[in-house]
Amino acid sequence: MRTRPFRAPHHNASLPGLIGGGTVPRPGEISLAHNGVLFLDEAPEFPRQLLETLRQPLEDGRITISRASGAEAFPARVLLVMSMNLCPCGRRGDPRRVCRCSDKQVAAYVGKISGPLLDRIDLHVEVPPVDRDRLMERRGGKTSGEMAGEVMLARERQLVRFKGRSTPVNAAMAPEDMERHCGLDVESELLLKSAIGEYGLSARAYGRILKVARTIADLGGEEGIGVEHVLEAVQYRRADNRG
Ligand SMILES: [Zn+2]
Repeated sequence: MRTRPFRAPHHNASLPGLIGGGTVPRPGEISLAHNGVLFLDEAPEFPRQLLETLRQPLEDGRITISRASGAEAFPARVLLVMSMNLCPCGRRGDPRRVCRCSDKQVAAYVGKISGPLLDRIDLHVEVPPVDRDRLMERRGGKTSGEMAGEVMLARERQLVRFKGRSTPVNAAMAPEDMERHCGLDVESELLLKSAIGEYGLSARAYGRILKVARTIADLGGEEGIGVEHVLEAVQYRRADNRG
């Protein structure tokens, strides 16, 4: 009970296995990952319908299973992490290998992650291939331990900010919290507005960018959200405008 769960179901997992179900309803992987991480490796390999069912619990933090006899709800507040390649063969974007996937194949593969699902994912990060020699050398970056320390401090700031709440984290901020804790100066406000227009971001994305910017500011130990925090938060939405 003291360790947060980490669940990584295989893409062959059944719908009841993932979201819960059965004659006598039992929790699925998404509930077993409650308050922890649900990791979907090679996310486009999961059936699209199954991925789409994640949208509701990602909003509500609970999953409702409808049955003839009524509805059952299980807790399902997870940090969803998904990984994917840029194409079905996995070679696209790697300078040392040749990808022969057609544009149509690539579009079908990437399209398995729908716009509305992507909209609910705050951080999109492209990880370029790294060769082994570069991987072994250490160059001045932060260690995992140092980063963990910063994360703990940022969590503590949020604990103080939302004292007494059941979910004392930036991600759970209500609109009135955001008004109080996510104020922007004129420059940041203009930047965010132009990014919204340029990338065609949704109203949901707007709120989520503000929350991410608040967290980036917390990681840096900053009281207010600055233009650099908004810039960083916006660039994590890069997959939104892939068309
Ligand atoms: Zn390919």
